[in-house]
Amino acid sequence: MRITAIKGFSDILPEAVEPWQFVEGKARQVFSSYNFSEIRIPILEKTELFSRSIGETTDIVEKEMYTFTDRDGSMLTLRPEGTAGVVRAYVESEMYKTEPVRKLYYMGPMFRRERPQKGRMRQFHQIGAEALGRADPFIDAEMLLMLRDFFAAVGLDGATLELNSLGCAECRPRYREKLLAFLRQKEHLLCANCRRRMERNPLRVLDCKEPGCIEATREAPSILESLCAECRDHFDLVKRLLAETNVAYVLNSRLVRGLDYYSRTTFEWTSDQLGSQNTVAAGGRYDGLVEELGGPSIPGVGFAIGIERLTLLLREKETNQPAGPSVYVVWVGTPARDWAFGAVNRLRRQGLVVEMEGEAKSLKSQMRRADKLKARSVLIVGDDELQKGRAVLRDMASKQQAEIAFDNIEAELLSRKAN
Ligand code: ATP
Ligand code: MG
Repeated sequence: MRITAIKGFSDILPEAVEPWQFVEGKARQVFSSYNFSEIRIPILEKTELFSRSIGETTDIVEKEMYTFTDRDGSMLTLRPEGTAGVVRAYVESEMYKTEPVRKLYYMGPMFRRERPQKGRMRQFHQIGAEALGRADPFIDAEMLLMLRDFFAAVGLDGATLELNSLGCAECRPRYREKLLAFLRQKEHLLCANCRRRMERNPLRVLDCKEPGCIEATREAPSILESLCAECRDHFDLVKRLLAETNVAYVLNSRLVRGLDYYSRTTFEWTSDQLGSQNTVAAGGRYDGLVEELGGPSIPGVGFAIGIERLTLLLREKETNQPAGPSVYVVWVGTPARDWAFGAVNRLRRQGLVVEMEGEAKSLKSQMRRADKLKARSVLIVGDDELQKGRAVLRDMASKQQAEIAFDNIEAELLSRKAN
């Protein structure tokens, strides 16, 4: 019986893994230079963690979560995003007691039961960062600069930063009322989903992808005009810092994001090369979330990058094929095999990528295999070579070959690797 993977869940095969390792490596490098440390959090959490933080009337919580009842009756959910778990860990470990300011990053799989299509999976992967404990606009700008630097490091160009502010507990309720009054006039034009949740969460309507809803809300009041003085000052400084550091952005007052915990600065990086799944990274400030999850009143700001979408964008440019072994050891006869097994082991410990066969094969078939694996050098040993204490070393590109004393093999191969 042949069992297939679940719809929307896919393997990242060895041929495709290189760009993943590449972007993960770059993220570690760039994020470390901004003094972020990695945090690893569980993939499974209590359902209430997500319903409380992301919000009951969001698409994620209403229809996208993989939730099940555990054997003891508790409700568990495969994480649909990373921020809730990071904040839970921050509160649970009381990190804020020793040092409230924490800059954390994570990478790994997330799960949402959406309709699978290009750039949209049910198991997808994010690289995310969260800065907890800082309310100042410099950290908002720093997060965006870090993303800009990360995109530059991986060679992504042409992504656009869309920016908005969602206000705070002071000014957002006022905007909410204004928007609701507007929506009530347009109610007949909205989709069933928006009509249903409009009263409880009117901002959600601005995030709806239905053409009718987009059209009906074209003239909706802008949240940027409802910001209180503090939020406006905060946002003005973020914008100024971005301008001073040459980060281009466009204001988008409809950008409310699909999660309820955001406040003040919110943003998305989009690419026009991704079709309708055009957001590569998204995030914002969430000043109420730590407290909502049982911690003290501590602000936060973060983002998440979608790795599938990012690697789709890089695929055209990345031509780096995985390199073959640096040495393939060909042996003929049992004594040579035993010598080869030891030699391979010694060379690997020197950091060389080395391969050999375990079963007896003809010289010709081993050479063909070395070729297929794209080995750079081949080391050949048989009874004669063992006798002389010298092997034959062949360079696969130049096809030059020469005898080499066993004692010199390591040094020679290491020097070839360095070139
Ligand atoms: P979208 O607007 O595409 O639905 P979102 O607003 O739901 O995205 P976030 O929750 O902000 O996405 O997640 C951040 C990033 O994670 C997205 O910008 C995207 O790159 C990626 N992402 C989100 N959902 C998926 C998915 N189902 N498959 C692949 N990547 C995803
Ligand atoms: Mg979504």
